[in-house]
Amino acid sequence: MPELPEVETVRRGLASVMVGERIVRAIARRPDLRFPLPEGFAQRLSGARIGALGRRAKFLLAGLDTGDTLVMHLGMTGRFSVAHGEVQRGFGEYVYQTGADPRHDHVVLELESGAAVVFNDPRRFGYMDLVATGGLETSRHFARIGPEPLGNGFSGPVLKAALAGRRSPVKAALLDQRTVAGLGNIYVCEALFRARVSPLRLAAEVTEAEADALAAATRAVLEEAITAGGSTLRDFAAADGALGGFQERFDVYGREGEPCHCGATHGTVERIVQSGRSTFWCPVCQG
Ligand SMILES: [Zn+2]
Repeated sequence: MPELPEVETVRRGLASVMVGERIVRAIARRPDLRFPLPEGFAQRLSGARIGALGRRAKFLLAGLDTGDTLVMHLGMTGRFSVAHGEVQRGFGEYVYQTGADPRHDHVVLELESGAAVVFNDPRRFGYMDLVATGGLETSRHFARIGPEPLGNGFSGPVLKAALAGRRSPVKAALLDQRTVAGLGNIYVCEALFRARVSPLRLAAEVTEAEADALAAATRAVLEEAITAGGSTLRDFAAADGALGGFQERFDVYGREGEPCHCGATHGTVERIVQSGRSTFWCPVCQG
């Protein structure tokens, strides 16, 4: 499942291809992905110019000059590729050469530049929607989503207020998209470690200083992962958001039984299960 840094890496790669371009022709090869595509999906995209490519939580947002925003979610296995020109496979059968199985190329955006943005998704947990740009924040996708962790609206005091009165462990509260947008299991584990906060602490009992540390750690770990991903963008043939080896730099995630990076305390990374998800942490320095 792509996490926020992967989605941001994909956004940056696609932005260089899509922003300012007109969609000459949009093709939807099936009526649905995870959910049905909206009425007239391909027709509403064809001819539209892309003004900006943004991100909210783990959604990509292509703002169009038609007043709509194309909302895109990668789901589990969704992948964007940029292809140049069609390749003929059989009689009357044209595909884009993207390195992925063309049977799963569900949506194609042909751009004025001659490039084509191809959305391939074998499992179809990804989805796309068209939403009036003015109503984006109140749309069903975003109405209940908290502040962006990298935006100005996220800070220690904001986090402290969001955690107040909640009887769930802080780990679960941070995974709740109403607390902060787009944080997944990996980055919650890493942020809790960096802030030296136990994942078992009750959300309501997180102090002001700990909330400050958590907000800063969340921002730092996401920014580092995005920077690592950005280093893979030079060969942007496939915008799969690979993180340039950042996963090898995790402090706790996936490191059960290994020595804690905190060094001096001689802690060992442990794995526990909270709400059905693995939590990796160091009971010594996050005690
Ligand atoms: Zn430790």
